[in-house]
Parts: sequence; structure tokens; C-alpha cells
Amino acid sequence: MQESNEHSRLTSKTWRDAPRQEKRGIRRALALLWRGACLRCPRCGVRSLFRTWFAMHERCAVCGLRFEREQGYFLGAIYINYGVTVVLALLGSFALEYWTRPSLAQQLVLWIGFCTVFPVLFFRHARGLWLGIDALFDPRTAEEPEHKGRLG
Ligand SMILES: [Zn+2]
Repeated sequence: MQESNEHSRLTSKTWRDAPRQEKRGIRRALALLWRGACLRCPRCGVRSLFRTWFAMHERCAVCGLRFEREQGYFLGAIYINYGVTVVLALLGSFALEYWTRPSLAQQLVLWIGFCTVFPVLFFRHARGLWLGIDALFDPRTAEEPEHKGRLG
């Protein structure tokens, strides 16, 4: 099924721009990020991304979206995981220092433990968020020819 982009823009009733018609702007962004955070396919929102704690499905069984598009694709998820971990650890340590004034040793034990455990627990959500962000900024993800699902 080959259609020109010009045709899609003019008629706006093809599979290519159906997802964009339903949700635009901030609503579309929130929907994509929410799906990612809930570990669901960013395109159709139906299928879970993971088959085990760490192993992802290669493709969505519903819409066929390939999750890992190329080797190293999930490097962005590592940045998300790292950033969220650092922000939470900094805010948490400042909050604890302000309200309870723990000793330095207590702070170190707590936040080293947090920075060790949290990224493992957040790993799946970081990948889901990365898929949502990628679908948001690179709409080709949502417009691959094998598209069957709808955004919504
Ligand atoms: Zn899907």
C-alpha cells in the first residue's frame, strides 16, 4: 500500500494520518508517554512490551510495531533511567537533610541503596517511556506500513 504523503495531507483519511487526527499536541504526547509508562505499545496501546522482567517482545502482536528498531536503540532509555534516578536521589537527599538531618553515613547508605535498586525497578518503565518519546518525536514509528492499530 503505497500512498504519497501529499495525498495523505490533502485527504487526511488514510492510515498514515489517522493516529494524528485523533489526538494532537499535548493530548497525543500525554497518551504516548502514559502508554510507555504503563508498559504498553506506543502505537496501539494494547500489548504489553515485556514477556519477562527484562526481555521485551520483538514486535507488538497487535499492530506489528518493532520495539527495538536497531542495535543500541534503547540507549535513550538508559539516559531516562539515569536522569530519573539522579533527580529523585537529589531531591530525596535534600528533603531528608531539611526535615530530619540524618548523619552523612545514613544518607550515603540510603541513597547508595536507592541508586542501586531503583534503576532495576524502573528499567522497564524507562524503556516504555523511551518508546513513547520516540513515537512522539519520530512519527514514522506510528506510521510504519504494517500499521493496524489506532492511537486512542
Ligand atoms: Zn501495538
